[in-house]
Amino acid sequence: MTLGTLYIVSAPSGAGKTSLITAMLETVKGIKVSVSHTTRPMREGEVDGQHYHFVDKEAFEKDIEKSLFLEHADVFGNYYGTSHTAVNDQLSQGIDVILEIDWQGAQQIRQLAPNTRSIFVLPPSISELENRLTKRNQDAADVIAKRVAQAKEDVTHYNEYDHVIINKDFDTALTELKSIFISPRTQREKLEKREPDMLKQLMS
Ligand code: GDP
Ligand code: ADP
Ligand code: 5GP
Repeated sequence: MTLGTLYIVSAPSGAGKTSLITAMLETVKGIKVSVSHTTRPMREGEVDGQHYHFVDKEAFEKDIEKSLFLEHADVFGNYYGTSHTAVNDQLSQGIDVILEIDWQGAQQIRQLAPNTRSIFVLPPSISELENRLTKRNQDAADVIAKRVAQAKEDVTHYNEYDHVIINKDFDTALTELKSIFISPRTQREKLEKREPDMLKQLMS
């Protein structure tokens, strides 16, 4: 039985999804971000097993053959994928899980799990996106150029998502993101599953 809710957060690279999710996790409990596998090189400051499981192409392709991935995609010429174990263990414990994945992965997950809630984060403009990627100072100029070009295609997929957040003012976007995660927790059926003993005591 899955008690937790599965969420997808997608955005063009640099729109701010990682910053928003990190800020939300400081105050909203009971959510875990699934750690993806990737073949892209590790950035300065990234930790293997925490930001991603960094693997080489051969290992990734072996894992595809063994059906270890719930979904995988080629993004900017690198493989990215979500393993079954990254998701199922948490959901069965009642923990909500966030997949920070691209729109191709989102399409695969919706087929597998139609109850997934999906959120697309938009930047206020492509030029602001480029500014943010430049200021983030983590990718080479040619990589940034590729990501900006890809962003123009990525944004056309916004209409496949349940929720859309424009990350112009960070605090406004953060409030909107939190509301999406907090509001479903008060749904009666979910509360009844989560707190059966407390409700029983109140009614006795
Ligand atoms: P950033 O988004 O600029 O921080 O760059 P990343 O290298 O972390 O992510 C690159 C792209 O890969 C983004 O579109 C992510 O959403 C996507 N991505 C990350 N992990 C996964 C995954 O497990 N599956 C899929 N399908 N996409 C992923
Ligand atoms: P993503 O995970 O979508 O690639 P990040 O969270 O890494 O994006 O954000 C990209 C950069 O933009 C980071 O340097 C971050 O600090 C900055 N940023 C995020 N949101 C805003 C915002 N609302 N206004 C200005 N800068 C922002
Ligand atoms: P970055 O290399 O900047 O960390 O991520 C680049 C893109 O890959 C982002 O848009 C991110 O959402 C996507 N991505 C990261 N992990 C996965 C994953 O497991 N599956 C898929 N499909 N996309 C991913």
